[in-house]
Amino acid sequence: MLDTANLRILIPANEISDRVLALGARITADYHADGRVPHLICVLKGGCMFLSDLMRAVNLPVTIDFIAVSSYGSETTSSGEVRLTKDLDQSLDGRDVLFVEDIVDTGLTLSYLTDTFRRRGARSVKIAALLSKPARRQIEVPIDYVGFEIPDEFVVGYGLDHAERYRNLPFIGVVENPTAV
Ligand code: 5GP
Repeated sequence: MLDTANLRILIPANEISDRVLALGARITADYHADGRVPHLICVLKGGCMFLSDLMRAVNLPVTIDFIAVSSYGSETTSSGEVRLTKDLDQSLDGRDVLFVEDIVDTGLTLSYLTDTFRRRGARSVKIAALLSKPARRQIEVPIDYVGFEIPDEFVVGYGLDHAERYRNLPFIGVVENPTAV
């Protein structure tokens, strides 16, 4: 069985689903008003659960694609290094890109991704992040749609891992003692 004794619940599942529905409604209204359709780019692996819920909450004929970047590995502090490990399948020419990311921490990942993908011909580039840790920011990135601002604590669940575990938790939890996990 999944051992959750070392976890403290920070955001329960019902609060996540309420917030994701609200974000989906805002995205629908904003893009519809501009006569646009978002091309959702999920940042793997952490963004997978947010994407699957968010895309069902957007009432527009969205398209999706996936990228993967290097991230924490089994560490709980950022290396500051950003590396594209899986590129997109489709061209971005003229698309209205909406990045779907689990969490913005230092901001390095999304600053790199938005710069890179603007140069690839996207018409617009916006960001949806389920979580944001403002206290940790090293580079300012404008997050257009943010689920929750959280304190500087290492969180897992709802797509987020610690050493590849806990991604399947339906809530966001804090690992009380990361070295003991
Ligand atoms: P940034 O480039 O903004 O520093 O980091 C973004 C990435 O770091 C996220 O996509 C995520 O993979 C990882 N990350 C940042 N904070 C946390 C956290 O509290 N928990 C987990 N599991 N990953 C995190």
